[in-house]
Amino acid sequence: MTKQKTVIIGAGPVGSLAALYAAQRGDDVEIYELRGDLRDASTVPLNFTKSINLALSERGINSMRNAQVPGLIEAVLSDTIPMHGRMIHGQKNGQIFEESQAYDIHGRYIRAVDRAGLNKRLLDELDNMPNVKFFFNHKLVGADFNKNLAWFERKPSSSQSDTPASTKQPTKETEVSFDFMIGADGAHSAVRYHLMKFARVDYQQEYIDTLWCEFTISPKKNQNGDDDFKISPNHLHIWPGGDFMFIAIPSLDKSFTCTLFLPEATFKSLESSPPTTIPFFKQNFPGVIPNLISEEDIQKQFTTNPHLPLISIKCKPYHYEGSVVILGDAAHAMVPFYGQGMNAGLEDVRVLYDHIDKYKSDNTYHPHDTFHPKYKNSAEHRALALSSYTQMRHPDAHAINDLALKNYQEMRSDVRSPIYRVRKFVEER
Ligand code: FAD
Repeated sequence: MTKQKTVIIGAGPVGSLAALYAAQRGDDVEIYELRGDLRDASTVPLNFTKSINLALSERGINSMRNAQVPGLIEAVLSDTIPMHGRMIHGQKNGQIFEESQAYDIHGRYIRAVDRAGLNKRLLDELDNMPNVKFFFNHKLVGADFNKNLAWFERKPSSSQSDTPASTKQPTKETEVSFDFMIGADGAHSAVRYHLMKFARVDYQQEYIDTLWCEFTISPKKNQNGDDDFKISPNHLHIWPGGDFMFIAIPSLDKSFTCTLFLPEATFKSLESSPPTTIPFFKQNFPGVIPNLISEEDIQKQFTTNPHLPLISIKCKPYHYEGSVVILGDAAHAMVPFYGQGMNAGLEDVRVLYDHIDKYKSDNTYHPHDTFHPKYKNSAEHRALALSSYTQMRHPDAHAINDLALKNYQEMRSDVRSPIYRVRKFVEER
């Protein structure tokens, strides 16, 4: 029996996990990634000045556990910090206060993880698999899902990207054939763009009226002169501002990655009048200046770090025949307020392979009288699996997109209201 060639587009967390699942099943796996290898110091993470840390929850953990790679989940979890609840920061009668709100009455918690660290760990596992090949600096530029052919532009490597245009090597186009393509190439997915020429895809996207900007709380020195956290490491910290918020998530190096979420007009107004930034922080995010970040650093980070948009995407179907499927942000980019974008993308991989395995092994799902074992692993089997995957997955993905949008109201505002919390408490009884 010939081996199936699975081509993965995008070596982010979702593409890397999908590659592990495919490789574990014996496929010949090729991963094509637009940027350089994340493990090279010269590769700058897309959109971020440095790697950000994210909330990792059971949805994502379980999906990595199910990859059945010995030691993987233990290694990933050992590089996380438990966040047992959220810490609400505020000011009442001139006094700064903190209020801890547990995530779960049974003590369950989410974990802070470094996005790049997690991604690197998955890439390292793939390095150990003889049936996996990487193609970094390869950008998908075209695909024919009837002929199962894809075209890639080979970009100059990052070491070349500083050389003058006149001395750069020209980008080359390569044609690649495949049995199965998995598009995990993020919110602005090229796979999704080409899929839409073959499948009748319903598509909806929305930019919300909020931009985000990253800040850092650096560690303090403790009595022994060692680095230590300035605030509780076991919480996700929130400074709710009503229509906006500032949050902080702990990092292993004892710093916190913070994110400011503001309506675009407020960003513009602060940008056009820099002296207003510090008073704005002091008024709305009590205790941040100067205890956690100096005035100078707030001003510098606000000016230097990009102010980025947030997009929410829904589409359906996620596949075409047995040739291609899109996963992760490519299929359902969501706003970050539920901490589930990456988690849901990792879960896509687990659910997809549940369907692929089921249709491969159970001939009762084959609708044709001509069923014969020789069809196992065929595009026909895969087409049935992908169709069933779309049917099952899209209501869940749409629901989590909606929950993510709704949770912004909770994080930036409702967490402050005792009435809201009493109502929630009663509802949960
Ligand atoms: P990506 O991470 O976008 O990876 C896609 C990859 O495809 C990239 O490496 C890209 O270079 C490559 N690529 C793109 N185009 C091409 C092409 N044409 N050819 C080849 N390769 C290509 N999620 C959580 O679960 N928890 C959180 O707490 C959380 N917090 C967040 C906070 C913020 C501020 C933001 C912005 C997002 C947050 N998310 C969170 C969401 C999370 O970052 C994404 O859901 C996750 O990164 C999606 O992973 P992915 O692999 O699908 O896509």
